[in-house]
Order: sequence, then structure tokens, then C-alpha cells
Amino acid sequence: MVAGDPVYLDYNATAPVRPAALRAVTGALAVTGNPSSVHGFGRGARRLVEDARERIAAWAGAASAAVVFTSGGTEANALALRGWGRRRIVASAVEHPSVLAAGVDAMIPVDDRGIIDLAALDRLLTEDSEPAVVAVMLANNETGVIQPVAEAARVAKARGAVVHCDAVQAAGRLPLSMAALGVHSLAVSGHKLGGPQGTGALLLADAEAEVKPLLAGGGQEKRRRAGTENVPGIAGFAAAVAELEDPDGERIRLAGLRDRLEAAARDLLPTVVIFGRDAPRLSNTTCLAVPGVAAQTMVMALDLAGVAVSAGSACSSGKVAPSHVLSAMGQGALAGSAIRVSLGWASSERDVDRFIEAFGSLMRRSAIREGAASAA
Ligand code: PLP
Repeated sequence: MVAGDPVYLDYNATAPVRPAALRAVTGALAVTGNPSSVHGFGRGARRLVEDARERIAAWAGAASAAVVFTSGGTEANALALRGWGRRRIVASAVEHPSVLAAGVDAMIPVDDRGIIDLAALDRLLTEDSEPAVVAVMLANNETGVIQPVAEAARVAKARGAVVHCDAVQAAGRLPLSMAALGVHSLAVSGHKLGGPQGTGALLLADAEAEVKPLLAGGGQEKRRRAGTENVPGIAGFAAAVAELEDPDGERIRLAGLRDRLEAAARDLLPTVVIFGRDAPRLSNTTCLAVPGVAAQTMVMALDLAGVAVSAGSACSSGKVAPSHVLSAMGQGALAGSAIRVSLGWASSERDVDRFIEAFGSLMRRSAIREGAASAA
């Protein structure tokens, strides 16, 4: 039985839309005009897009002209990996499928904490001198583990590579600075930080950089992405970014909630495994396994108790494939038992209480307890 309203703890899948973003979307929907039209209506729509572009550029320390709006993180990754025009792709073994699907020629291995091996990256780039694009994500969607992107960029640039960073999960949760990361391009997504789904951007270090478009047609986005801009989505994305007022305070608040949740889970069942626990991690994410208990069983039982989490990596078809992230960390055996709990801007102490209560009652159920004990 669900006691109270359902609790949403799946922010890494998508975050609830922030009220300010909702207002911006509905406000922009009421604006008539194609941003490419020269008349007053068009100029009104163009102003919304350019104000949003400035806001997003300032947030990431990029030039306005370096922001290419896309339909989300997937498209931003694809645009970078194909658009940089390098034949060879070198990517970390824990990248999101939208990066891996571009056709990775060499994988950078990770250690058991999920952190990339920089010496291996250097080796991969010296073994084969074909100019490469190197992709290293800033924070992992399943575990929250943060990669040493600035160091990876230094290694890769010394070997003549172009460096792309998928910052979809880190954006809004860590300070974002193109200059500090030292990458050539950065992918961000609106819906992970409280903006509308179907929005995102590729940010470029060099506003004049040539990026081959995936979509051809009109000359929008400086000929880098054809198609009439998603004006309401772009306005909503920027409004969500404007709400990221106190990232440090929010990071500390979420770390407190996440730590309490993890401590309670381990008190309830000491065999609980928390992935990436010894690595720098996003403060909002925990990926944990109860050995011997299928992730799907836990997700469904928690859902029945009104608590929404996901099984490892939620994949769009609704089926759960074994996690390539946990396998790369040498934890493949536990991957089928991993659930991901992810918090965000509207998460509260009460939400964590509800999770602990539901998780506790699940663990107390005999079938589950027996399964966990026999696997321990
Ligand atoms: N990259 C990472 C790390 C993600 O977690 C996701 C979405 O889950 C994406 C890329 C894709 O972003 P979008 O849903 O905006 O296409």
C-alpha cells in the first residue's frame, strides 16, 4: 500500500520540470514567430532563443556563439563525435550508449571504482597515430562517478586529439567550466536539471570551430544544426539553468540526503554493495546492490510502495540489459542486482525516509532476506 504521495527518486533518468521552466515554456509557446523570420514576430522569437543562448553560455563559461542547441544530450554527443570529422573514436568504457553507438575504435578501461586509466589513454593514442576524438564523460549516469576530465584532456591534447565531454549528468550538479575542463566540446541536456525533455546543447570551446552538421537544410545554429529552433524548449532549458543559484549549497544538501540513505541501507543489510563509493561521486546518486536479489524485483516492490527508482541503467525500451558500466568496473556479477537512486532539486528528507521505510520492509520479507543471505 502506498502511504502518501509517490516519491520520485529517479532524477538521473529525468528531473521534474522546475516551475520557472514550466512558466518559460508556456510563455514561449504563446509567442508567434519563427526565429529565422525578419519581421517583428520573428525577431521576438529570436530574442527568446538568443537570451537563452547567452544564459547557457555564461553558465558554462562559453561564448554565446559557441552554443549549438540540439534535441538533447544524445544528439549533442552524436554531433560532436561525427561532427569533429575524426575517423578514430577513443572513449571510456563507461560512456553513455549515445557515445558508444557512434562506433568506438578503442576503449579506455576503468578501475574498480569506475575511474579511467590515464596511462591507458596515452597508450591508445600513441599506438595508433590516426587523429582521434576522445570522449570522456564528466559524471556517470549509473554510479555518479566523476572522471578526471581535465587530466584526460591534457593527455589527449598532447597527442593531437580532439576532446569531447558528455556532461549531461554533471551539468547542474557540479560547477561547469569549459576552460577548467580544457575540452573542445561539451554535451548538456535540459531535462536532467529541471528543464523540458527534448532540449540540450553542444558547447564548443572555439566559437568558430567547424562542426559538420548531422541535420542539413536551413542555416540555423551557424550551419551546425538545421531545423527551426525548439523555441519553447530552449526558453525552458535556460529558465532551469537560471534556477541553479547555489550549486554548492545544493550539492551539500543532496550529499546529506544521499549519505543518510546509504547508511540506512547498510544498517538494514550490511551486505549491501555501494558502487563507486571510494571515488569522487555526484552527491545526488547512489548505485547499490543487494546480492542475490534481482534489481527488477526491488524496483517493482519499491514502486508498489510508492517509491520510484531505476534498475541500474534505465534503458528506453523498459528492458534492463546487463550494465556495461558495472561490468567495466569488474562488478558484472552484481550488475543484475543493482538499483540506482538519484535525488534532485525537489528531493526532501521525507523522500529519503520513505525510501528507507520501503527498502526496510522489502528486506524484511522472508523470500528476499533468504535470497540475500544465501548469496552473501
Ligand atoms: N549522456 C548521459 C550521461 C546520460 O545520462 C543521458 C541520458 O540519460 C544522455 C547522455 C542522453 O541525454 P538525452 O536524454 O537528453 O538525449
